Amino acid sequence: MSGTTRREEIAAGLEAVEARIAAACRAAGRDRAEVSLVAVTKTYPASDVRILAGLGVRDVAENRAQEAAGKAEECADLPLTWHFVGQLQTNKVRLVVGHAAVVHSVDRPRLVGALSTEAVRAGREVGCLVQVALDDDPTRGGARPADVLAVADAVAAAEGLALRGVMAVAPLGEEPAKAFARLREIAGAVRAGHPAATVISAGMSGDLDEAIANGATHLRIGTALLGRRKPFVR
Ligand SMILES: *Cc1c(COP(=O)(O)O)cnc(C)c1O
Repeated sequence: MSGTTRREEIAAGLEAVEARIAAACRAAGRDRAEVSLVAVTKTYPASDVRILAGLGVRDVAENRAQEAAGKAEECADLPLTWHFVGQLQTNKVRLVVGHAAVVHSVDRPRLVGALSTEAVRAGREVGCLVQVALDDDPTRGGARPADVLAVADAVAAAEGLALRGVMAVAPLGEEPAKAFARLREIAGAVRAGHPAATVISAGMSGDLDEAIANGATHLRIGTALLGRRKPFVR
């Protein structure tokens, strides 16, 4: 990386991602304005968030509550909307509600209850996406498809929360396009009961094209913007 500044690196990543998004939108006959880019900054320092903000990025996401809260505080002067996309334990809800406008990983009634209690206490409204386990295996987060409508109804009925839509990660070992097609159907079923729940959060660095082809409205992109993350050691 001799001579290349971090800003130049990130700017090049952003430019390449924007080109991919534009091409995928063209191929799908969609307007670029229908798709929001959410930069996933987990494991990267607040200085990178600052660079992204300087390059015009307005939506950033984290997946661990403590790290998210710390970075959001360090970046409190920036015009950013924070998203939370990780598995969330109820005892970490306060850390997340303190800064996040949208939680993408709402997957069970108990979490809905905890988020609602904390949102009311903090006097904030938290946007919620119901995370769908597209492989029907909730161990890595997400509600089973059969449980999604119940979780969505619980969010919609909860004080302090606003149901905005659905989110999923493409399962390993399946073509993302097929998985995202199922997500789109589930999103439609949720929207039938909750017309304002228009968000489909799908698509990461490796599968954003398939996500756009299947109606994604929010892409969550980390690696393609910031580089490969070091393996996380707990
Ligand atoms: C890390 C992460 C992303 C970003 O993945 P990349 O492959 O780095 O783009 C998106 N969504 C979730 C839920 C993540 O944890």
